Formats: sequence, structure tokens, C-alpha cells
Amino acid sequence: MTPVPVAETIAETRATVAAARAAGRVVSFVPTMGALHAGHAELVRVARRLAGPSGLVVVSIFVNPTQFGPAEDFTRYPRSLDADRTLCGDAGADLIFHPTPAEMYPGHAVAFADVTELGDHLCGPSRPGHFRGVCTVVLKLLNVVQPDVSVFGAKDAQQVRIVRRMVADLNVPGRIEIAPTVREADGLAMSSRNVFLDAAERAAAPRIYAALLAVRARARSGETDVARLESALRADLAAIPGARVDYARIVDDDRMQPLPRLDRPGLCAVAVFLGRTRLIDNLTLP
Ligand code: AMP
Repeated sequence: MTPVPVAETIAETRATVAAARAAGRVVSFVPTMGALHAGHAELVRVARRLAGPSGLVVVSIFVNPTQFGPAEDFTRYPRSLDADRTLCGDAGADLIFHPTPAEMYPGHAVAFADVTELGDHLCGPSRPGHFRGVCTVVLKLLNVVQPDVSVFGAKDAQQVRIVRRMVADLNVPGRIEIAPTVREADGLAMSSRNVFLDAAERAAAPRIYAALLAVRARARSGETDVARLESALRADLAAIPGARVDYARIVDDDRMQPLPRLDRPGLCAVAVFLGRTRLIDNLTLP
């Protein structure tokens, strides 16, 4: 498979999309930060299916500085454009939009996109400003590509719920579709950050998913008391060698707010540090 062409400018990307649209092609879009893996490949395959054989599938690769905190891993975030181009080609993409930070943020910006209460819990408090950075870059990317449909991963559960609401509340054209989390054979959710894990951390990491499955099993066998479910989850996570739990919560799947009883769909979401690497994962309940 030949590597997918790369557009570095907004103008070039817009021109390609405009030509496709003029030819009646459906445009689908997968925003990523690159260092692509099989989870991203699945998103691209879904985007191809949604666009149809004659559609235009655009993947963006942009490590967005504004969604990283000052003490986070922006500079060391993995980057692998050559391998990403091949993976995108194999999965059915037509174009990679790979802007520089200066192309996306040419000067001092004064306008941003943000959400209110959907960011109150889970990653919001741990990563101040993160969802403002995500909303702003996603809205900018959607304004560049103007896709008929965009595909996001269930792995970033809070992110996709926030993006969906932003698109609905701000009347952004185009649909948002969600693709399921792709996992390694041992259950670890695929992540570009998994390359940072040393051998011992990698061996311990599947226990995060095992802890989520244990919560779901308890919920399915009739436990509805969220405090009890959360304390069992925290105990399982705390028992993982080298783990530091950032959060382990069950929230209302729709509003992302605390849920005393599992009397409606819940989202069980965790963030766990293994060494310096922060991993997130989630499951819906029950
Ligand atoms: P990222 O490059 O990590 O910012 O992720 C780009 C998109 O890929 C987001 O919509 C993620 O939710 C999605 N994604 C990341 N990891 C996975 C995975 N293991 N399975 C499915 N989607 C994923």
C-alpha cells in the first residue's frame, strides 16, 4: 500500500475536500494525535465504511499543545508520521492533514470552545484546561475539514460525550460516530502512550481492564450501590503493583455527574498512573 498523501496546510486540505464534495463524495474524518495503532486503524476502517468506496476519508494527525498541561507529556508524546501514513493507507484513508502548531495557532487567540458540567468530573479536575483545548482543536479541525461524519473512539469516553454535546449545542454540521475500544489480547486498551510502559508496568497494565470487568460483573449480578462498587474498584486498582489511582468513578453515562445508585446507565471510568504513564479506560454499566 502506498503511503497516504499528507497535507500540511489548511488551504490544501480545504481544496481537496472541496473538490471531493463537488464530485458528490461523502467526506468522513478521524481526528488523532498520531503514533497510530490498531485502535486508530479501526476508526479509519469505520470512517471508510461510512464514506463508502467513493468517499473521501481524512485523518488528522496533530499533537495539540493546548490540551496538555504544563507538567504533562506534550514534548515526549510519541510521533511516527512515516509509519502512520502506511497504517492509514492500509486502513483505507485518502488524506492525512498534518498541520504544524503554527498553522493551527498562528497568533494570539482570543476565542475558544469549552463545555460546562460534562467536564466537572473524571479527567476534568485532573487536567485543568484539557477539555477546553480538546473542544477548541476539534471545532477548528471540523471547521477545516467540514466532514459529513467524524469517528471518535469509546476509549476516550468523556471526550466523545463532550464533543457530541458541543456539536449538538453549537449546531456544528456533521454527525459524530463512536467506535468501540480496541484492546491488546490481554485486555489492555491500546494507547499511543503504552510505548512508555516498562516491562513490569506492561505486565501489570491489563489488571486495569480486569478491575473494570469485575465491577461490571458485580453490577450485573445486582449490586446497584455505587459507593460499594467504587470502593471495590479502588481496592482492585490499588493492588496493582506500581499503580497510583488518579480517579476511579462511576458517573451518569449521559450527564457525566455522580450517580448514587445504578438505576440508569452508568459509565465506569478510571485513570491510573503506572510509573509516569497515565492510562485511562472505561466500561458502560450495567
Ligand atoms: P488519540 O490519538 O489518542 O488522541 O486518539 C484519537 C482517536 O482515537 C480518539 O477518538 C480516541 O478515542 C481513539 N482511540 C484511541 N485509542 C483507541 C482504542 N484503543 N480503541 C479505539 N479508539 C481509540
